[in-house]
Amino acid sequence: EAFNTAVAGADALNAFIVKTPEHALAAADAADKARAAGETLKPLAGVPIGMKDLFATKGVQTTAASHILEGFKPEYESTVSHKLWGAGAGMLGKLNLDQFAMGSSNETSYFGNVISPWRRGEGDTTPLAPGGSSGGSSAAIAARLCPAATGTDTGGSIRQPAAFTGISGIKPTYGRCSRWGVVAFASSLDQPGPMAHDVRDCAIMLEAMAGFDPRDSTSLDMAVPKWEAGLSADLRGKRVGIPAEYRMDGTPAEIEALWQQGIAWLKDAGAEIVEVSLPHTKYALPAYYIIAPAEASSNLARYDGVRYGLRELAEGQNLQEMYAATRAAGFGDEVKRRILIGTYVLSAGFYDAYYTQAQKVRTLIARDFDNAWSQCDLLLTPTAPSAAFGLGEKVDPLAMYLNDVFTVPASLAGVPAMSVPGGLDSAGLPLGLQIIGKPFDEQGVLNAGLALE
Ligand code: GLN
Repeated sequence: EAFNTAVAGADALNAFIVKTPEHALAAADAADKARAAGETLKPLAGVPIGMKDLFATKGVQTTAASHILEGFKPEYESTVSHKLWGAGAGMLGKLNLDQFAMGSSNETSYFGNVISPWRRGEGDTTPLAPGGSSGGSSAAIAARLCPAATGTDTGGSIRQPAAFTGISGIKPTYGRCSRWGVVAFASSLDQPGPMAHDVRDCAIMLEAMAGFDPRDSTSLDMAVPKWEAGLSADLRGKRVGIPAEYRMDGTPAEIEALWQQGIAWLKDAGAEIVEVSLPHTKYALPAYYIIAPAEASSNLARYDGVRYGLRELAEGQNLQEMYAATRAAGFGDEVKRRILIGTYVLSAGFYDAYYTQAQKVRTLIARDFDNAWSQCDLLLTPTAPSAAFGLGEKVDPLAMYLNDVFTVPASLAGVPAMSVPGGLDSAGLPLGLQIIGKPFDEQGVLNAGLALE
């Protein structure tokens, strides 16, 4: 009965692209049997989770929310999903997302946008964006359709949707969770991570998802810490930096107030607050929107109508025409925009002016963080410059990109960052606080998240 209610709820939000109840039920049965036999239960025994449809799942359609992958059923399982099944979890279904994880509102999905379960106050019917790209994950968790889900974060796709829907999500240090079997967007930035109701659930999920994988050349060869056991909201002895450059013109007063509230909560937990400077912050967004499309244009070259999913082939067409017809029909507008930008910035005449320059900026941004760590252990900022906006309200791609202004710097630096709910704005919509940590210090990030809960 609960399952049928969940299915109806899921349909109303368009959170799932594919439902796999049999997978979740098999995990529940296995947990029941283990319990009856008196065995020690696995950490996620029988927990029904949602899987962002960017993770390859063996025999289950994997689309990245793109027409070009419609009908593609991988012969293999991603490392992260494989680990989750090994920890006892089951899959309720594949969650909707922005096409190839490109977007901040879930509106670029070929399978229609996800609708946030939140509304601007009583009686307001404006459908709101669940954030993106992990918008199916955020909406499904916020609507209590599943207790946890996987997300991926290239420039904010775990943190911003978590903030928009009042849940928690952590992007671990780049390399913590394997990218093997995750549809590639921008490989030097892509990082899987968990999304859940609270910090403890994120810690439990992350422990199951993380770990060295020889099949991912950038995988971290480090033991997975016991993050859940290490949780503590006592921040005495910790210094939390407030980066001056995140105080940007045009940031709404309510976001500033949220930030001040977060500072007060961390002080209450024993942290010392220090002002720090990350001088290259304003160049992060432009650098990201060069590097990410550049890598995407290269990664997406594999979708040619031969190897995966869709093939558009008319009578008498040659190979080149088949490629063009398949890609024209298969990719959405935002994906094509990124391929065009990426190909342009990598072209012989412009490579140095754009791509090389952006890589230099990336190094400066990473150095900003390195310098900050001599003054503090963690950073606190808002997650996004606004609460959830209405579906269809942001039509200009640049305006959409600007929503990522607070999340992309940590992505470029590869450091762990988390969003936790910070409260509601005057319209009753959730706002998120972001904690950024040193490389490998997911524990510090989670602990500060716990203190803010
Ligand atoms: N919104 C950003 C983009 O469109 C980030 C997406 C992501 O992290 N996958 O690129």
